[in-house]
Amino acid sequence: MKRYVGRVVAVTGAARGLGAAIAARFGDEGATVAACDVGTIDGAPGHAAVSRVDVADAAEVAAWIGGIRDRFGRIDVLVCNAGIIRDGRIETIGDADWRAVIDVNLGGAFHCARAAVPLMKEQRYGRILSLSSMSWRGNFGQANYAAAKAGIIGLTRTLALEGAQYGITVNAIAPGLIDTPMLASMNPRIRAKLAAKVPLGRIGRPADIAEAAAFLCSEAAGYVTGVVLDVDGGIGIGSALR
Ligand code: NAD
Repeated sequence: MKRYVGRVVAVTGAARGLGAAIAARFGDEGATVAACDVGTIDGAPGHAAVSRVDVADAAEVAAWIGGIRDRFGRIDVLVCNAGIIRDGRIETIGDADWRAVIDVNLGGAFHCARAAVPLMKEQRYGRILSLSSMSWRGNFGQANYAAAKAGIIGLTRTLALEGAQYGITVNAIAPGLIDTPMLASMNPRIRAKLAAKVPLGRIGRPADIAEAAAFLCSEAAGYVTGVVLDVDGGIGIGSALR
């Protein structure tokens, strides 16, 4: 399918993992992709623009979004994907680990959306998609991350209301366990325990998330806004029995 020909798509955290898969998927469907990451983005010849941006830094984000507007004239789709984990039980989460996780995961989505919404309003068209997580419902050892990912949902639902009259839809994906460098960095014992609970019997692939993103940001999803789509092999259903 080539649903994104003529569309400009901005993706954060696109150097690897889900961001790389999502950016590649939009590119494959014909989009002009503007990708950013705090690290270097290599091996992305299909991208129209690649920038180094720390999404926790409001000024860097504003400059990035302004640059896309200047160069390509519009932003149809914004994917707020950049995220980090700094796991630990609450008494071990220092101020820096609390702040970093909130600032990147939640602050990043806020900075990006705030910068892009005025342009989307002018266009009277926009799609904003943020990466929440199954952890938004609470997850052992992830007080900071769960708080940030639950915050994404409040942000998403509120922006869905504010954007609706301008043709802007705002949604979130809550992935389960997906095979990326972030998952590889998790405590292996906890990862194995969680993986054994996935009803569909496998860890997810980045392509599973990219597929959902490509639908939610398409014109066909124009009547879908304010939703949180679990893409998690059923783990969010929550029963311990299988
Ligand atoms: P990852 O760690 O493999 O990749 C994240 C990317 O974000 C990296 O390229 C990193 O450099 C970039 N990044 C980190 N901080 C940044 C910053 N301040 N500014 C810009 N870029 C930054 O992670 P992933 O597994 O691909 O996760 C992508 C998103 O999906 C994250 O928001 C994550 O919380 C969420 N998520 C992932 C899973 C999973 O199982 N992999 C599950 C639920 C949610």
